[in-house]
Amino acid sequence: MVSRPEQAEAPDVARLARGIRAGERAVLARAITLIESRRADHQKAARGLVQELLPQTGAALRVGITGAPGVGKSTLIDTLGTFLTGKGHKVAVLAVDPSSTRSGGSILADKTRMPRLAIDPNAFVRPSPASGTLGGVAAKTRECMLLCEAAAYDVVLVETIGTGQSETAVADMTDFFLVLLLPGAGDELQGLKKGVVELADMLAVNKADGDNVARARAAAAEYRAALHILSPRSPGWTAPVVTCSALTGEGVAELWTTILDHRARMTAASDFAARRREQQVKWMWAMLEDRLIARLKSDPALRAKLPKLEAAVAAGELSVSLAVDELAEFLGL
Ligand code: GDP
Repeated sequence: MVSRPEQAEAPDVARLARGIRAGERAVLARAITLIESRRADHQKAARGLVQELLPQTGAALRVGITGAPGVGKSTLIDTLGTFLTGKGHKVAVLAVDPSSTRSGGSILADKTRMPRLAIDPNAFVRPSPASGTLGGVAAKTRECMLLCEAAAYDVVLVETIGTGQSETAVADMTDFFLVLLLPGAGDELQGLKKGVVELADMLAVNKADGDNVARARAAAAEYRAALHILSPRSPGWTAPVVTCSALTGEGVAELWTTILDHRARMTAASDFAARRREQQVKWMWAMLEDRLIARLKSDPALRAKLPKLEAAVAAGELSVSLAVDELAEFLGL
């Protein structure tokens, strides 16, 4: 048998927990690697670590940021993050991008995209976990967030690409969801996806600098008008539409003030903690669903049965409800 030395060293959960509580970045990075590992013993240790650190989690303000590629997400995170560390905060930057792979050059949260934060001792930048199911990637990012909180990062910025499902996943793990938009030419509302607007706690038209200022303001006004016809995400909060420039920093301090104002208002209405509680339970169900589906899909007896049923359903010979009845009966449901 080939010896596998790495197999021998069992992760020392107590030591990792101590290092994280002490704010040691190298230990935090190692612990996150453990969370992202697919090895069963690593996963077991990671679960133990998260449970161990749970009392030290929850104190950060969690902010999700989305927007189409090129809108300026990484520039904004670099500017906002640097502004925040300048104010004494510790900032963690995480990402959810199920399409990313380490070797293929993740488009998210990689250090060259955030040059100032990458060398800031009070910032911690981590790319998206490598590709997997969205549920898997999101769960790992959530656990990374908990570890960052235990390491006393008090602001967590979670970036995602502008696709519906990953946006929902990030909105479901953050306290505030910021949607970045471009001062595009022509019909502004074309780029405004209804789904994402319903998740938004604020919309910001970025690149409001130089010749773009007037265009950005006009775009913001159009978005504002359009928002009136949509229902707000929280009863006590109407998502503001603002302009900013990640490049010059104009409007970035105001973004942060709005985020704090949102937290104050949500806290006063007891909605802040309620949103967190709902997110926790939703996460539990999502994880359970993922595990059930994975288990079902790997069941040999079911796999043997599926092709015929799928073919019959595809050909229109068997109704979907009857096919599901048959599968449910087979599974004893
Ligand atoms: P991402 O793909 O959303 O992360 O976008 P990036 O942050 O990489 O920005 C894409 C391009 O837009 C880069 O060339 C940035 O320098 C530029 N950019 C980002 N923010 C601004 C801004 O506020 N104003 C201007 N003029 N350019 C910006």
